[in-house]
Amino acid sequence: MFKFETLHQSKKSAARVGKIYTAHGVIDTPNFVAVGTNGTIKALDSATVCEIGLQLMFCNTYHLLLQPGTKIVKEAGGLHNFIHRKLPIITDSGGFQVFSLAYGSVADELKSRGTKNSGELVLKIDEEGVLFRSYRDGSKFLLTPETSIQAQKDLGADIIIPFDELPPYHIEKEALQLSIARTHRWEERSLRAHLKDPNGQAMYGVIHGGINLDMRKNSCDVLTKMDFDGYAIGGSMGKNKAEMQSILTHTLPLLPKEKPNHLLGIGDLESIDQGILLGIDTFDSSYPTRAARHGVALTWQGQLKLTKAENANTFSPIDKNCTCPTCRQFNLAYIHHLFKAKELTALTLATIHNLHFMVEYMARIREKIMDDLI
Ligand SMILES: [Zn+2]
Repeated sequence: MFKFETLHQSKKSAARVGKIYTAHGVIDTPNFVAVGTNGTIKALDSATVCEIGLQLMFCNTYHLLLQPGTKIVKEAGGLHNFIHRKLPIITDSGGFQVFSLAYGSVADELKSRGTKNSGELVLKIDEEGVLFRSYRDGSKFLLTPETSIQAQKDLGADIIIPFDELPPYHIEKEALQLSIARTHRWEERSLRAHLKDPNGQAMYGVIHGGINLDMRKNSCDVLTKMDFDGYAIGGSMGKNKAEMQSILTHTLPLLPKEKPNHLLGIGDLESIDQGILLGIDTFDSSYPTRAARHGVALTWQGQLKLTKAENANTFSPIDKNCTCPTCRQFNLAYIHHLFKAKELTALTLATIHNLHFMVEYMARIREKIMDDLI
C-alpha cells in the first residue's frame, strides 16, 4: 500500500520531487504538513482543509490519548472517520510531549496556562517507558513503545512514529549517548509491535543524535538497518539555523534515497528553503496556522500584519493574486475589523489564507526543482 517514488532529482542540489502513496491518497513531495494537534487544524473543519489542498495532516497522539482517548477514536472507526478526513494523516508517538513535560516546553506551556506542578506530571522514566499523569484530570498513563504503537493503531493514521526519548538541548555527551541507545531499543520495540499488525500503516524511524554529528551518524547506521518505511529527523536541531544546516548536511546523505524523509517540527519558510536543497521531503510545523491566529498573513511579499491600523480602510484582499477562499471573498478592512472585534471568523479566514499560501509555496518549489532551478 505505502510506496515512495522519486519523479525528479535536481541537477543543481539534493532537492527532489516525489510522490508518497498511502491508503488515503498521494502526497506530493516536497510538501508542508500542517499540525492539527487535537484532530483539527485550529479554526478549520476537515472539509475546508481538504479544499485548501493540504495533502498531509499531523495529529498528536499525546493529546488525543488524554482527550478524548484513543479508544473512543477507535470506536468512531479511526481518526479519519472521527474527524471526517479523507486524505492522509501522520501521528507522532507522544514521546516528544512527555519528555518536554519533564524537560521544558510543554511544562512551560502548562505553567503559562496556570496548571500547577507541570514538572511533577512525569512520575517515572525507565527502560520500560514513561509513567505520567494527565494534566487534565490527574489520571496515570504509561507510555511505552508498545502502548504508543497501540494508541497509534487505534488512531489509524497512514504514517506513524516509533516511541523515542527527547533529550534536552543541554545534555552531557555520555547522557546523550545513553539516551540515544535507549531510543534505538525503543524504536526497535515499536517497529516489532507495529509489524505484528501493520494495518496498512507505514512507520518512519526517528534519527536522533542532537547536535553531535558522530551520534547522528550512529543513529542513521543503527536505524537504517531496521525495516522502516521512511525516516524522520528528530531530537534537538540546535539553537540556530547554522546548527540545523550542519546536522541536516551530515545526516541526509546517510539516509536511503529510495525512502521518504521528514523533518520533525520545523517548517518556517527559511528552514523549508534550506531543507529542500538538502533533500528533505516533508516538513511539519504549527507556524503558519499560529501566525494566522496572531493576525499575521504570509504573502509573497513577506509577512503582513492584519491588525495594523492602515488596514482598517484597505478594501482589497490580503493578496490580490491569491486564489484562496478568503482572498476571493473578503477584503483587508473586513478581516481587520474581525480581529479588532475579536470575532472567531478572523482566525478562520487568516488560517485559510496562510495554509493556502503554504500549499502554493510548496507547489512552486516542486515546479522549480522539476526545472532544475533549485
Ligand atoms: Zn489568500
